[in-house]
Amino acid sequence: MNNPIKKIMIVGGGSAGWLTAGVIAAEHLVDKARGIELVLIESPDVPIIGVGEGTWPSMRNTLKKIGVSETDFFRECDASFKQGSKFIDWVKPGSGAYYHPFNLPDGGNDFNLAEQWLPVREAVTFADAVCPIRYISDHNLAPKLITTPEFVGNSNYGYHLDAGKFSVFLKKHCIEKLGVTYIQDHVVSINSAENGDIASLTTKMNGDLSADLFIDCTGFASLLLGEHYQIPFKEERRVLFNDSALAVQIPYLDADAPIASCTLSTAQDCGWIWDIGLPTRRGVGHVFSSAHTSDEQVLKNLQAYLEPAIGKAAAEKIMPRKLTFNPGYRQELWHKNCVGVGIAAGFIEPLEATALVLIELSAQMIAEQLPATRGVMDTVATRFNRKFYDHWQRIIEFLKLHYVISERRDTDYWHDHLDASTQPDGLRELLELWRYHVPWRNDIRSDEMFPWASYQYVLYGMGFHTALPAAVKRNAVMDIEKAGHMFNENIKKSQTLVNKLPTNRVLLNKLREYGFQKV
Ligand SMILES: Cc1cc2nc3c(=O)[nH]c(=O)nc-3n(C[C@H](O)[C@H](O)[C@H](O)COP(=O)(O)OP(=O)(O)OC[C@H]3O[C@@H](n4cnc5c(N)ncnc54)[C@H](O)[C@@H]3O)c2cc1C
Repeated sequence: MNNPIKKIMIVGGGSAGWLTAGVIAAEHLVDKARGIELVLIESPDVPIIGVGEGTWPSMRNTLKKIGVSETDFFRECDASFKQGSKFIDWVKPGSGAYYHPFNLPDGGNDFNLAEQWLPVREAVTFADAVCPIRYISDHNLAPKLITTPEFVGNSNYGYHLDAGKFSVFLKKHCIEKLGVTYIQDHVVSINSAENGDIASLTTKMNGDLSADLFIDCTGFASLLLGEHYQIPFKEERRVLFNDSALAVQIPYLDADAPIASCTLSTAQDCGWIWDIGLPTRRGVGHVFSSAHTSDEQVLKNLQAYLEPAIGKAAAEKIMPRKLTFNPGYRQELWHKNCVGVGIAAGFIEPLEATALVLIELSAQMIAEQLPATRGVMDTVATRFNRKFYDHWQRIIEFLKLHYVISERRDTDYWHDHLDASTQPDGLRELLELWRYHVPWRNDIRSDEMFPWASYQYVLYGMGFHTALPAAVKRNAVMDIEKAGHMFNENIKKSQTLVNKLPTNRVLLNKLREYGFQKV
């Protein structure tokens, strides 16, 4: 039990494998005294999933920590900026758009702006009152200037990227700069030690490979956690019905076509369509529930969506790739000396792009709390499981919120989301609370993935009604004045950004030529 943990083996070379390798290597390979060895093994026979193209702003810190250049990242991963999500037709068919931006309401941490906004809700949308996102999105603006240093923004941002290129980029960096050992081989079986730990992996060409800690990043195969340990899968299809997607890449018809600042998410009769703008192409996909619609209908929806951009003839010729998944996650994510990260641990639909950020959080916790010995590993595992079980629960509640407060009733799909038996208790409790109280800091723990502001943006973007009690309605004159001042400042700030910031296309072209200043 006192054996030191010295050798870590990551199985799988998709975004999960390489991000985890990078984060652990950046934290520990400099720790020569402890002599940690990090190996990543990837099958030449099983391709990576190759989708997953929207990140959170957290990816900036992750990349910075791993030590990559942001300029190289943009150039090599065909990356662009993501400043939030624009939700179209989610309230009703034809209802227009609302935003869930990455910027928190300016000053909103000290003062609950949403409470002050409610009395003027008919005059201005919540997002327009407290942040510049609509101005940015309407003008396809970048979040920074060419002179702004790497990883710094005038407005908060994450990335849109090419998932295939991202893995190649991380792989090169991890091998060349961080000392990660890379083995290309297929794992055929898993060998147990007497105590039930994994002792080694048998590979096709390299024989048996042993390690002290194994990280399962094998995607849907879930080779170690799922197949070997048979950790039960907690299926969440009852809550989140979507289990399939048709995905396609489309070219821009014009090399100077604008690049959108947000992921566009357009609700459909039985699901929704994502639309992600990269410098050289768009990635578009229709996520849907196979229990509520057919592939043929979804293809028609996708073609109708694409027609204005690429024309009827081209839209009719698309050959999308079909992806299917069982929404849910493993009940235990760290078992014995094996921890699962990425799709091997679980996956639910990509609304709000939570998969890559969960990978980042998992990798960070493993790196920060890397058990010194086998003896302490069970304690770390218990804490890891508790934390990530909670993350999964909160993500599921937050995604379900989008469906529950929608007024769409056009199909059984939207009706079924209203059935109370499909709604998590935690979500119903929060919605009950927010009928008379505006969500804020005390409602959402500070270590939750979605902050209070995310709830405000989605609830009030979708027209949720909070009836404030009379005592709160009669706001102190000072508060009303303060809020009015803050709303005005937001308009000024938005106009300054419109005057100052280049478009995404202009900045990304410049970036190719000159690069950002290194930090
Ligand atoms: C439709 C869809 C849209 C998505 N959109 C987003 C999004 O916008 N944002 C977001 O954050 N996430 C998104 N995701 C999720 C995202 O794609 C994944 O979380 C991410 O790519 C990580 O995948 P992975 O590395 O876990 O698995 P994979 O990419 O599948 O990698 C699995 C690896 O395991 C290896 N492997 C498998 N079996 C063996 C074996 N026997 N021996 C050795 N190696 C083996 C394979 O070779 C491969 O390298 C989306 C997912 C889907 C399905």
